[in-house]
Amino acid sequence: MPRRNEVERKTRRSANRYLLASDFDRTLSFNDCGQVLAGLRGVSTFDEKVAELAEENFVQQGAELTYLLVHDPEFNGVRREHLVEAGKGAHLKSNVELFASLLNEIDAEHEFVFYVISAAPREMVESALEGIVSPDRIFGTEFEYDAEGRIVDVRHSTAGYGKVAVVDRLRRERNIARDRIIYVGDGSSDIHVMLHVNRLDGLTIAVSENEYISQVARRIVLSDDALAVVVPILEEVFGWDRGRIQARLESEGFLVREWDKFQTDTLVLSAADLEKRVPEARQPPLG
Ligand SMILES: [Mg+2]
Repeated sequence: MPRRNEVERKTRRSANRYLLASDFDRTLSFNDCGQVLAGLRGVSTFDEKVAELAEENFVQQGAELTYLLVHDPEFNGVRREHLVEAGKGAHLKSNVELFASLLNEIDAEHEFVFYVISAAPREMVESALEGIVSPDRIFGTEFEYDAEGRIVDVRHSTAGYGKVAVVDRLRRERNIARDRIIYVGDGSSDIHVMLHVNRLDGLTIAVSENEYISQVARRIVLSDDALAVVVPILEEVFGWDRGRIQARLESEGFLVREWDKFQTDTLVLSAADLEKRVPEARQPPLG
């Protein structure tokens, strides 16, 4: 039997265990691997195809590439190795590796388990993050292949609501409290999961000003460096102030050159229909 203080230590450890989950395309990278794949396949109308699918609301947000890989004639014959090749075309943000490890170095009381949850094909994300994030920490869309290795169907999608399912599974498997989830994302495929994480009282961080995501995320961080995402976590989880965060980043060898903090109120006003607001027409004066 484990000794009592060992049990207490383990309990405390899991109470302070956080699931740190991140989207991939345009969150850890600058570009979109779907566009890279389209370029490699000579498909020049990829953006139009995606926009059309998004407009139809027929597939889950973020699953547009998956749909095209299975159904679009121009993507016929895509194989696993093409996904791997497209992943190598990812333009990664700086310090993805440090972002994932730095938080675990703060103190022994807090543990962060890092996972990448992307709607993109799993092979593509694994290839893009090779040597940085281990494949068992990556969730992505999985396909079925024919005998010649060509994509023929979807086995499992991690777009839209699929990300919620992954977060819940990890929460159960890794024994993580409901309010100890941190999700980082940039786009429309992240809205379901961010609403879910907000509902569980977790922390949601947007890394873009996408009009949908920025209304849902609790914090927004804009930077070319993946490491910048530690800022809201150090503030919200550790309660650090700006000076302490800056000192820590400097001790890691980073100079904070600019740090603007503002809340943006964006309003669009149009003329109200004033007639409806006049309670009653005035009576004409007597006489
Ligand atoms: Mg994304």
